[in-house]
Amino acid sequence: MTFRKDTNSGDDPKLDTSCPVPDDSKRPDGQHVDHWVLPDEERAKGFVRPVRRSYAHLTCGTVTNMPLKIAETYAREPSYYGSTFCCGCRDYFPVGENGEFIWVGTTEKVGT
Ligand SMILES: [Zn+2]
Repeated sequence: MTFRKDTNSGDDPKLDTSCPVPDDSKRPDGQHVDHWVLPDEERAKGFVRPVRRSYAHLTCGTVTNMPLKIAETYAREPSYYGSTFCCGCRDYFPVGENGEFIWVGTTEKVGT
Protein backbone atom coordinates (compact mmCIF):
# COMPACT_ATOMS: atom_id res chain seq x y z
CA MET A 1 0.00 0.00 0.00
CA THR A 2 1.31 3.42 -0.85
CA PHE A 3 0.18 6.24 1.34
CA ARG A 4 1.32 9.76 2.02
CA LYS A 5 3.28 9.82 5.24
CA ASP A 6 4.15 12.39 7.85
CA THR A 7 4.83 11.84 11.56
CA ASN A 8 2.51 12.65 14.45
CA SER A 9 5.37 14.39 16.27
CA GLY A 10 6.42 16.44 13.26
CA ASP A 11 9.93 14.97 13.55
CA ASP A 12 11.67 13.45 10.55
CA PRO A 13 11.04 9.70 10.35
CA LYS A 14 13.89 7.39 11.40
CA LEU A 15 12.60 4.52 9.28
CA ASP A 16 10.45 4.12 6.19
CA THR A 17 8.52 1.10 7.36
CA SER A 18 5.19 0.47 9.08
CA CYS A 19 6.40 2.72 11.91
CA PRO A 20 8.65 5.81 11.62
CA VAL A 21 10.80 4.84 14.62
CA PRO A 22 12.77 1.69 15.52
CA ASP A 23 11.01 -0.98 17.60
CA ASP A 24 13.62 -0.64 20.36
CA SER A 25 12.54 2.95 21.02
CA LYS A 26 9.08 2.02 22.30
CA ARG A 27 7.77 3.82 25.36
CA PRO A 28 7.57 2.00 28.72
CA ASP A 29 3.88 1.29 28.06
CA GLY A 30 4.75 -0.56 24.85
CA GLN A 31 3.60 2.16 22.47
CA HIS A 32 5.82 3.39 19.64
CA VAL A 33 7.18 6.87 20.38
CA ASP A 34 5.89 8.13 17.04
CA HIS A 35 3.29 7.21 14.43
CA TRP A 36 2.62 7.95 10.78
CA VAL A 37 -0.13 10.43 9.91
CA LEU A 38 -1.43 11.92 6.68
CA PRO A 39 0.27 15.27 5.93
CA ASP A 40 -1.54 18.43 7.06
CA GLU A 41 -2.59 19.39 3.52
CA GLU A 42 -4.08 15.94 2.93
CA ARG A 43 -6.09 15.98 6.18
CA ALA A 44 -7.30 19.50 5.30
CA LYS A 45 -9.09 18.15 2.20
CA GLY A 46 -11.99 16.97 4.35
CA PHE A 47 -13.14 13.98 6.35
CA VAL A 48 -15.23 11.00 5.24
CA ARG A 49 -15.89 9.92 8.86
CA PRO A 50 -16.35 11.90 12.10
CA VAL A 51 -13.13 12.80 13.94
CA ARG A 52 -13.18 10.46 16.95
CA ARG A 53 -10.51 10.28 19.62
CA SER A 54 -11.46 7.16 21.62
CA TYR A 55 -11.86 3.51 20.75
CA ALA A 56 -12.46 0.34 22.74
CA HIS A 57 -10.61 -2.95 22.41
CA LEU A 58 -13.30 -5.64 22.07
CA THR A 59 -11.03 -8.28 23.58
CA CYS A 60 -10.42 -6.53 26.92
CA GLY A 61 -12.87 -3.58 26.97
CA THR A 62 -10.17 -0.96 27.56
CA VAL A 63 -10.71 2.49 26.03
CA THR A 64 -7.67 4.14 24.43
CA ASN A 65 -7.44 7.81 23.36
CA MET A 66 -5.39 8.96 20.39
CA PRO A 67 -3.70 12.22 19.33
CA LEU A 68 -5.73 14.55 17.11
CA LYS A 69 -3.57 14.10 14.00
CA ILE A 70 -4.09 10.34 14.13
CA ALA A 71 -7.84 10.77 14.72
CA GLU A 72 -7.99 13.10 11.70
CA THR A 73 -6.02 10.62 9.61
CA TYR A 74 -8.61 7.92 10.40
CA ALA A 75 -11.40 10.41 9.55
CA ARG A 76 -9.80 11.32 6.21
CA GLU A 77 -8.68 7.81 5.21
CA PRO A 78 -10.26 5.09 7.41
CA SER A 79 -8.08 2.30 5.99
CA TYR A 80 -4.78 4.14 6.56
CA TYR A 81 -3.69 2.01 9.52
CA GLY A 82 -3.50 -1.76 9.76
CA SER A 83 -3.35 -1.90 13.53
CA THR A 84 -3.73 0.27 16.59
CA PHE A 85 -2.55 0.38 20.19
CA CYS A 86 -4.50 -0.84 23.24
CA CYS A 87 -3.28 0.82 26.44
CA GLY A 88 -4.80 -2.05 28.46
CA CYS A 89 -2.99 -4.85 26.60
CA ARG A 90 0.03 -2.59 25.88
CA ASP A 91 0.31 -3.88 22.34
CA TYR A 92 -0.94 -3.36 18.78
CA PHE A 93 -3.85 -5.32 17.30
CA PRO A 94 -5.63 -5.33 13.91
CA VAL A 95 -8.20 -2.73 12.84
CA GLY A 96 -10.66 -2.94 9.93
CA GLU A 97 -13.71 -5.09 9.18
CA ASN A 98 -12.24 -8.08 11.02
CA GLY A 99 -10.35 -5.94 13.53
CA GLU A 100 -10.58 -5.86 17.31
CA PHE A 101 -11.64 -2.23 17.95
CA ILE A 102 -14.83 -0.13 17.87
CA TRP A 103 -15.29 3.62 18.25
CA VAL A 104 -16.59 4.42 21.74
CA GLY A 105 -20.37 4.83 21.81
CA THR A 106 -20.86 3.03 18.46
CA THR A 107 -20.79 -0.46 17.00
CA GLU A 108 -18.62 0.81 14.15
CA LYS A 109 -15.28 -0.90 13.67
CA VAL A 110 -12.18 1.29 13.74
CA GLY A 111 -10.62 1.34 10.27
CA THR A 112 -13.83 0.91 8.26
ZN1 LIG B 1 -6.84 -4.59 25.05
